[in-house]
Amino acid sequence: MGVLAVYGVPSASTLIYYGLHNLQHRGQEGGGIITFDEKGECHRYRGQGLLSEIFTNGELNHLPGSMGIGSVKYANAAKGGLDNVEPLYFHHHAGDFAIAGEGNLINARQVSEYLDRHGAIFQTNTDSELLAHLIKKSNKEDRIQTIVKALNMIEGGFTFVIMTQNRIYACRDKYGIKPLCVGKMGDGYAVSSESCAFEIMGAEFIRDVEPGEILTLDRHGMRSTLYSHFNRHRMCAMEYIYFARPDSDIDGCNVHAYRKEAGRRLYRECPVEADMVVGVPESSLSAAMGYAEESGIPYEMGLVKHKYVGRTFIEPVQSVRELGVKMKLSPVRSIVKGKRIVLVDDSIVRGTTSLKIVKLLREAGATEVHVRIASPMMRFTCHYGVDTSTPEELLCSHRTLEQAREAIGADSLGYLSPESTRDSCFGCADPCQACFTGEYPTLLYDEMVEND
Ligand code: SF4
Repeated sequence: MGVLAVYGVPSASTLIYYGLHNLQHRGQEGGGIITFDEKGECHRYRGQGLLSEIFTNGELNHLPGSMGIGSVKYANAAKGGLDNVEPLYFHHHAGDFAIAGEGNLINARQVSEYLDRHGAIFQTNTDSELLAHLIKKSNKEDRIQTIVKALNMIEGGFTFVIMTQNRIYACRDKYGIKPLCVGKMGDGYAVSSESCAFEIMGAEFIRDVEPGEILTLDRHGMRSTLYSHFNRHRMCAMEYIYFARPDSDIDGCNVHAYRKEAGRRLYRECPVEADMVVGVPESSLSAAMGYAEESGIPYEMGLVKHKYVGRTFIEPVQSVRELGVKMKLSPVRSIVKGKRIVLVDDSIVRGTTSLKIVKLLREAGATEVHVRIASPMMRFTCHYGVDTSTPEELLCSHRTLEQAREAIGADSLGYLSPESTRDSCFGCADPCQACFTGEYPTLLYDEMVEND
């Protein structure tokens, strides 16, 4: 999912719309925008599908105001449907407010049970609604204090943008698992999950929101409040490896630069003799360039991606995912025929894509296909909002390296080590790698309850 906010800039909804387009890779199943106009009246629109399918009839003209928040989302089966498309809007006697969030609360079950016992009735399955109820429950007078208190009742990897009639709050989890940054736009501000949204909006990157920080944006400017003095920099390694756009900088590290360095290290750790390096478009191209540069093996475009087909990893249902793989890639026959290929991919989740691509390349005449993965073997479930599904579905949760190689039909298979995954990152000294190592940066509340 991706979140965006704009404060103090005319036609906020149009800027949010364009910014969200640059976050579309983070979710394709729904999106929406809410604005407050100068009279404090709320305007909102949301829908399912791509932004270009949602905003089709001049809806932006009906979203006036110089402040707003927006979101794009992907959903697993439990959190699908229009009701769960954010931003959400809430009425309250102390003032209406809107919330959009990203990530996952690891104590969501405990929080919802607590709220349930206190009479809350839920309309969605979202963490944003849980946070809204916690904010609403607090009897502190000052809004920032109610948000501080609410954030201290939740745990996990998350970011939230909260908008009241006269200000915006941008919040990042205290472990620093999810990315969030702030930029300047004239006299106003923009907040985004990724800095790549700023370019199209004409915003200038200022800095990342710090772990455990709430940024308040209003007519007085920008102010910082720490909701927790416990804070860590455990940025999700998969943001660098797969999710984020290469033109984004996250916690001081450019995503393309990270991937290229990971590709260089991948060659040093898993060399192989071959005629050409081929990257799986799009998210693996930077790593493939790094592998080619370090090895001296020429980089070639052996695969072409069909545009306008969604990312297979974030489609919620397996049958749709498999169809997506078939539709999205073509081998370039005249390039790969008779050649030994190093196929560089960013990660293997279920193995669906890898198996299909190896087959495509062989059918196109490749004599050998050596698969090199620019991240470690993914063996564990993510609890922070990345839908890697159950351990049973992960290719490597129950297979050795040799069994995984066999399952995807490659001549050889090599993975980057967790050490190099960490050291490729220039800005974050210790990123979360829990889906590779099983070492989660937080306690896992829901799992503790299940094990009781
Ligand atoms: S477990 Fe994996 S996908 Fe989840 S936050 Fe950590 S690195 Fe990212």
